[in-house]
Amino acid sequence: MAALVIAEHDNASIKPATLNTVTAAIACEGNVHVLVAGLNAGAAAQAAAQIAGVAKVIHVDGAHFEHGLAENMAAQVLAIAASYSHILFPATASGKNIAPRVAAKLDVGQISDITRVDSPDTFERPIYAGNAIATVQSTDAIRVITVRTTGFDAAAASGGSASVESAQPQRDSGKSTFMGSEIAKSDRPELTAAKVIVSGGRALGSAEKFNEVMTPLADKLGAALGASRAAVDAGYAPNDWQVGQTGKIVAPQLYVAAGISGAIQHLAGMKDAKVIVAINKDPEAPIFSVADYGLEADLFAAVPELVAAL
Ligand SMILES: Cc1cc2nc3c(=O)[nH]c(=O)nc-3n(C[C@H](O)[C@H](O)[C@H](O)COP(=O)(O)OP(=O)(O)OC[C@H]3O[C@@H](n4cnc5c(N)ncnc54)[C@H](O)[C@@H]3O)c2cc1C
Repeated sequence: MAALVIAEHDNASIKPATLNTVTAAIACEGNVHVLVAGLNAGAAAQAAAQIAGVAKVIHVDGAHFEHGLAENMAAQVLAIAASYSHILFPATASGKNIAPRVAAKLDVGQISDITRVDSPDTFERPIYAGNAIATVQSTDAIRVITVRTTGFDAAAASGGSASVESAQPQRDSGKSTFMGSEIAKSDRPELTAAKVIVSGGRALGSAEKFNEVMTPLADKLGAALGASRAAVDAGYAPNDWQVGQTGKIVAPQLYVAAGISGAIQHLAGMKDAKVIVAINKDPEAPIFSVADYGLEADLFAAVPELVAAL
């Protein structure tokens, strides 16, 4: 048998989450195939073939795959599912949209958000916002899995030499239509892929102050900007910057939290960062319990000083 990874891509290149998912797939079953379904997605299929550890790329092309609509993607996965012992998706918005449809149609239990593969049928996944780790064993013949990408190193994007096979596209389900997308444009690194993140909390007090204080630090460090939910809800930072249980899960090399208390729901999104720096004027703030470096200070003084010193 083999493991099948459903690639995330933009029809030209492979998105980083796919690389972490390949690593998880290799831990499940040495023989890894990648499905690239898209429109004129030959370049993405070729890129997938370069990923180290991938044995075969299945390339499916059709206009109805251009935007990865979940109904069409699920139908395509189901058409080839019987050949696989494991079907893995990154636990991204897209993967989480497709995987349950596949699991339901196969009548198997979905294994969500795994952070470790103990054996081909046993997996670890965080529960209670990361406060406990559940070990889950599945006796299903096909294991449909979503992968928490921060739990696995990225497979090398080059060095592989997989074969690329074209497969018959399934028909358009007609159940959904792509209407359009509004994509935030930023010169900064994408939050979930960033090596350095600086995040601001409610303490910033306004969107203007958030920008005035946090942006220079992010610029100096070449960092992505993040925020607590309180900062997002108050309109200090855009929605897609939210880090945490109901935001993005990140694991950068360096995470700087300024004016963030460290509520359990925020920690759930960032406590796997390699080095955590917290700036908070309250010595009792829970963020200090996970911080490698804690600075008890007024952020409005400390952050500009830090920027000046960098
Ligand atoms: C179901 C659910 C899901 C949630 N999901 C998320 C999530 O995904 N992400 C998330 O972040 N939250 C989430 N929350 C909200 C979470 O519980 C907290 O309310 C939120 O994280 C608090 O944000 P904060 O730390 O910015 O604000 P606060 O808790 O108000 O903390 C502000 C901090 O700033 C410090 N401070 C104030 N002034 C200064 C200053 N001048 N200099 C330095 N420090 C200062 C204070 O000491 C305090 O520690 C969720 C809550 C629920 C119930």
